[in-house]
Amino acid sequence: MNFLVDFVEKSDAFEQLDKLKLFLFAARIKPATFVALKITPKNIGDKFHFEKHLKEKNIVFKVDKPKSYEEIVKIRKNRIVWAIKGTWYGYDLFRNKAYQNLFKKYVSYVKKGKKDKADLTAGRLYGYPSCCVKNYIKENDFDWVKKNYSYYEYYKKLHDVERKFPFIVHTACSAKCSASKKLNTQYRNIIKKMSPKFYKEFTKKKSFKSDFIVEGENNLLTEIGQTPLWIEKDGHEYNLIAAKKFNNHYYLFSHLTKDKVYAHGSLLSGKAEMQYNHADIKINKLKKIIPNILHIRQFKVLGRKY
Ligand SMILES: [Zn+2]
Repeated sequence: MNFLVDFVEKSDAFEQLDKLKLFLFAARIKPATFVALKITPKNIGDKFHFEKHLKEKNIVFKVDKPKSYEEIVKIRKNRIVWAIKGTWYGYDLFRNKAYQNLFKKYVSYVKKGKKDKADLTAGRLYGYPSCCVKNYIKENDFDWVKKNYSYYEYYKKLHDVERKFPFIVHTACSAKCSASKKLNTQYRNIIKKMSPKFYKEFTKKKSFKSDFIVEGENNLLTEIGQTPLWIEKDGHEYNLIAAKKFNNHYYLFSHLTKDKVYAHGSLLSGKAEMQYNHADIKINKLKKIIPNILHIRQFKVLGRKY
């Protein structure tokens, strides 16, 4: 019996992708990982339990200071209301002290603004294929990105690799990446064996009908001036908020279209088809446009800065 795996399987403190990362780390596939542990009044004991299992396995770890996180709790007309749901702790786990030292090096590169060195180090820490790390570094250069992808091609690639390789947690260099394909199969087999319960949940197809609110459109922002990278666009990647709860949550989705144009605040009827960590949104029709969409919130989304 692996008590850590058993605990992670049952706990509500981790998002699915973090569970996946923890299993791959516990299988000694990944030398290091970072996960968020979310605590609400319903699972107050989980932090203590998690750390107990880490110590039992002699896992080297470092935990960040707690931060609050918010979720959408109510949508009424044009008002999207967020509220603090709980506290989250960031955990860095390492196979041994040597990897913890490598992580310290990574942080120092980030702090010094040595982006390429930082990304190469992160690739070693988290077990990413070198072709994907190299491509990631290239894509840090927005001029390169703009030369090599149209708006639609860029976002299409992100959706394609996510759909194609659901068991990997890095951004694959392309949907044809053979290293990612190999890892995806390897990880799938490991997860299936290690936690059949999680495997079943993760691979299960779920769908629900709902209205969706068009809330903004994605674009990369240039470092200088924070202006959108693509001015002329050959597609649209919208952020959609499901207006109805599913599994007790209001879900946020990204939705890519080649030729459909929706105004901010459009209310669309449709269906979300979810599997793994990905969702395809099938739009049925435009119902109306909600004017002056308003977010009522206090904090920014989950994230971390060094
Ligand atoms: Zn690759």
